[in-house]
Amino acid sequence: MNNTIRILEKEFVTFISYIEIEKVVDRLACQLNNDFRNDEVLFIGILNGSFMFIADLFKRLNIKCRITFLKLASYLGTESTGKVQTLIGINEDIRGKIVVVIEDIVDSGVTLEKIIEQLVPYEPAMIKIVTLLLKPGAYKKKIKLDYVGMEIPDNFIVGYGLDYDGFGRNYEDIYVVKQ
Ligand code: 5GP
Ligand code: MG
Repeated sequence: MNNTIRILEKEFVTFISYIEIEKVVDRLACQLNNDFRNDEVLFIGILNGSFMFIADLFKRLNIKCRITFLKLASYLGTESTGKVQTLIGINEDIRGKIVVVIEDIVDSGVTLEKIIEQLVPYEPAMIKIVTLLLKPGAYKKKIKLDYVGMEIPDNFIVGYGLDYDGFGRNYEDIYVVKQ
């Protein structure tokens, strides 16, 4: 069912339903539960956009795990400017720990690179990446994305935690901007 919503001056149309999202989250959780069944994992959720994905993924995990959060933001509005600001940093001891970063979406990869740069000096045993969404057409970095939920075209999306100028995070489905 195609549903149109308006956020500020833009119109968006249904793109990925919550039913589909749940299937993807189930699959990612299965992979993580399998790959880390004998390990202890520290998950690092990247705020704000990932908060719904983090919650849905985390409650499906049955491994020994903890979670903490890192809050990053771009300096300027909706564009991937390459300038990423840390609003809440890491205050957990991650040295020697298995760290899994939880991201909502990887676009250019600039944000992810900043995240890795922040974690590496603390010398974790390993850093794995799980992202719900990837825009392969925009991704320019070499960092391996270990767990990717879905690949999507290079269009602007909202919902399921993702925002347009702070709004639209509340929708359970994901919407894409109308051309
Ligand atoms: P990157 O640094 O990889 O270019 O962008 C990553 C961040 O930009 C994501 O974590 C997300 O916060 C934001 N982002 C990238 N693409 C989209 C999109 O289509 N919609 C929204 N709402 N945010 C996006
Ligand atoms: Mg994000």
